[in-house]
Amino acid sequence: QRAEELAAAHQSPVTTDGHHIEVVANIGGLDEAKQGVELGGEGVGLLRSEFLYLDRADAPTEEEQTQIYTDIAKALGTERTFVVRTLDVGGDKPLPYLPQPAEENPFLGVRGVRLCLAEPEMFRVQIRSVLRAAPFSKLHIMFPMIATLDELRAAKAIVAEEKAALNITADVKVGIMVEVPSTAVMSELFAKEADFFSIGTNDLTQYTLAMDRGHPKLAKQADALNPGVLRLIAMTVKGAHAQGKWVGVCGGIASDPQAVPLLIGIGVDELSVSVPAIPSIKAMVRRLSKADCQKLAAEVLQLGTAAEVRERLGKAAG
Ligand code: PEP
Ligand code: MG
Repeated sequence: QRAEELAAAHQSPVTTDGHHIEVVANIGGLDEAKQGVELGGEGVGLLRSEFLYLDRADAPTEEEQTQIYTDIAKALGTERTFVVRTLDVGGDKPLPYLPQPAEENPFLGVRGVRLCLAEPEMFRVQIRSVLRAAPFSKLHIMFPMIATLDELRAAKAIVAEEKAALNITADVKVGIMVEVPSTAVMSELFAKEADFFSIGTNDLTQYTLAMDRGHPKLAKQADALNPGVLRLIAMTVKGAHAQGKWVGVCGGIASDPQAVPLLIGIGVDELSVSVPAIPSIKAMVRRLSKADCQKLAAEVLQLGTAAEVRERLGKAAG
């Protein structure tokens, strides 16, 4: 099987009935970007840019940030997608150089894009730095934790202003993470104003089931294959496709071999997976028929519990 995976690593992830499912990498920095390319990744579906900001005494400068985004973009090249997620910290991931008032419920507090909109100067530095990487890859900017259309509009306005100020004419796509239930439910309206969606199933599961994603006692129940989460994923895909927009999944289930046929059946266009999983997920896509996956998804979406879903998917995998 490993031989098949390595052979598939540099072949296009196309299903047996001819549908291309983009397989890209979740990365934290330049090394993983290079490894992703070596393992056949078609690009980067999620750069967790907070890695540049955490574990340091002061904010990364505009020059430092420009350098790293540009280096990653160059490692990918102009034929590969590069999705940069803007800073996703706050709440439980505080920055020492950006002190914020303590919060009783950090997961429900000023985090993700909310923090960036509250600290626009810091946000603008990041946006300018990211935009300068535009000439070197297919650059996409993605906002995390979007919960309302107002947040999307405010963040987009900042990107548009900085892009105009820098005189950048490249077509930089601007999209959102779907990881808050309201955004999944409202996906058709969001899809009119966002260029693409990437579903963050780790947080979407947490916020849908009201179960802390890191809680040791809830680890088993907080399953992204819970039918409530799956219906939100299906709703997101429907809303996006109605507006001709693509949808990826960058949460952990995109790397789960049991979940992949289901996600393809639901209509997901892109899987953004951990770097080591790229060859096996590409090989898997090449073994699947989308038509069969669609039948499987129609059945699974009628089930009532995560255990039933896992049992049905296990049976399908044979
Ligand atoms: C997610 O929430 O699923 C996600 C991909 O983002 P993170 O794990 O970085 O919160
Ligand atoms: Mg998240």
